[in-house]
Amino acid sequence: MARDDIRFGKELGKEVFTQGHGEDVFLTAGCMLPFSEQNFMAQIENAAQFQGYATSGSILHHFVEIKLEPEQLAGYISKIFEKPINYMTITTTLAVCQNCGKRYIATDGLKIGKCSCGSDDISTYSRVIGYVKAISRKKITVKDGVYVGANNFWSKARRVDWAERQRFTEATYEEVMENEDGGEKESTED
Ligand SMILES: [Zn+2]
Repeated sequence: MARDDIRFGKELGKEVFTQGHGEDVFLTAGCMLPFSEQNFMAQIENAAQFQGYATSGSILHHFVEIKLEPEQLAGYISKIFEKPINYMTITTTLAVCQNCGKRYIATDGLKIGKCSCGSDDISTYSRVIGYVKAISRKKITVKDGVYVGANNFWSKARRVDWAERQRFTEATYEEVMENEDGGEKESTED
């Protein structure tokens, strides 16, 4: 679809903004800000400002690769909703060893390499739209910006998208929780 849009735009003499490169371009699903933004606080601030204009169809997505206790998660969500953010999702990355069935919660298979059973047949599951699905399986690596395994189940463009998305880690959690700027709420009290 993104490729068709670019072609259609060219016919009209207009530039169509897409992400990705060359033939591997993609459109974000809905009105989303790029999750490739490396500064998480900027990601959250941008979402807060943007969602003020778009009351639906715009979601802040977090791709979680850290184990959070329920209390931590509750505190974090409360902190986020101090800002004018209406929608967010929290998706935990999952990895599964296809040899022994061992599950690695909040971990990208890319970072495992080999399972404790010795197998490198690890698959990673997440989502960029709608539902959770296996991304790639076995000998997972990132090649020229593309998330790639021996078998790949997402389109190449979506795997570029996945490789670019920043992951929510311990450092992110601490940075957001320690941030004293409560956003709009505090500034309007002045
Ligand atoms: Zn295993």
